Amino acid sequence: MDKLRIVPLGGGPGTVTSNMWLYEYGNEAIVVDCGIGFPEDKVSDDILLPDITYLKAKRLHLNGVLLTHGHDDHYAALPHLLAELGFPPIYGSRLTAALAQDKLEEFNLKAKVSVIKETDRVKLGPFTVEPVHVTHSVPDCFHYLITTPVGKIYHGSDFKFDLTPLDHWPPNFAKIVKLAEDGVLCALIDCLRSERPGMTPSETTLTPALKRELNHWGGRLIFTTMSSQIHRIQQAIDVALGFGRKLCFIGRSMERTSQIARALGYLNFPPKAVIKPKEIKRFKDFQLCLIISGSQGQEASSLTRYAAGRHKILKAKPTDKIIYSTDIIPGNEQAVFNVIDKLARLGTSVVYQETTDDLHVSGHASAGEQQLLMELINPNYLYPIGGSFRHMYRFKELARQLGFKAEQCILPDFGQAVEFDESGRMSLAEILPLNLPRINQNQ
Ligand SMILES: [Zn+2]
Repeated sequence: MDKLRIVPLGGGPGTVTSNMWLYEYGNEAIVVDCGIGFPEDKVSDDILLPDITYLKAKRLHLNGVLLTHGHDDHYAALPHLLAELGFPPIYGSRLTAALAQDKLEEFNLKAKVSVIKETDRVKLGPFTVEPVHVTHSVPDCFHYLITTPVGKIYHGSDFKFDLTPLDHWPPNFAKIVKLAEDGVLCALIDCLRSERPGMTPSETTLTPALKRELNHWGGRLIFTTMSSQIHRIQQAIDVALGFGRKLCFIGRSMERTSQIARALGYLNFPPKAVIKPKEIKRFKDFQLCLIISGSQGQEASSLTRYAAGRHKILKAKPTDKIIYSTDIIPGNEQAVFNVIDKLARLGTSVVYQETTDDLHVSGHASAGEQQLLMELINPNYLYPIGGSFRHMYRFKELARQLGFKAEQCILPDFGQAVEFDESGRMSLAEILPLNLPRINQNQ
């Protein structure tokens, strides 16, 4: 009888980005996520792609690609790999599908990303997939329960348990418990913040800090975050509108994402509150809130060009206040701090993680939430994903605290396949010689 194999085509264990997980049974396969990665020696806007050599060499029949959520490291490799993957069906939540669809259109690709609802059960060859709504730093995220011929696998990609999210749509705990009722073979769980005890604060805790930063500020507010941080952008919008400011979205990703999110009802603001970048000069500084792309120090971004004095419309003023409301993706630190250095030289006021720690909360589950998910599912095996080896190791300690045995927690190597036989017994398989292709995304 065939074995179930879980193969990390983007590297998997020990890596945070370039997520692409192959589930293989016999000749049949599905893939969860298709994201880009960021090289450690980042000196430009280079990105990494998952390495699909294994998938192609084995000539597997790919039944579909399931997207967990709308972050680049989970879907943005699609336009680069779709043709090589043979244009398989792609699925995601309403927002994830819209963001992925927009990314494909940016590359002039005609493929359709299908929307699945949380109540759907999708049959993909020998796999049946059931989405579970969870919270993270982009709305409308899914975990997936994948029923395979050898047992159920819970694919718990990036999440946190936000009990008071801005959209009043908390994680579906009841569904997690129900799906896990008759036993889960293995749960893959986001372990990135396993070192942090307790629970990650709710996204909605940021509003007071944003109000404080705007109170009595007479200059322009320039707000930057990841464009997918839709609830964060909504809070900035609400606070700015409360101070009577106009909104201006600057930068391709910010403009596109805000349009998509507003059209689908994930972002709310009156259209007349928004002005175009070329209209900025018609307003006084205290009337403006500029929401700008470039929180990760991307070379070609609007904020980087503003800081370097290279932005066509937006020229820096010493009375500008730039708020970074973001985590720096590992590998981007140098690029971000280079931009902040430039902003400091311009004499602007810059507020960021190192100066004020209440303008950002993580989108990832802390130790308490990871343990809660382990308890709710109570699988035979636990497989920490989305973190470095030290995060995986700490995750294992958290599992041990709950009574899981050491051999129940899988700690594979970078690129290592994991197998489950028909009796559900797990074994570590070969390590793939992965070589993630590196490309420059501005070319
Ligand atoms: Zn994410």
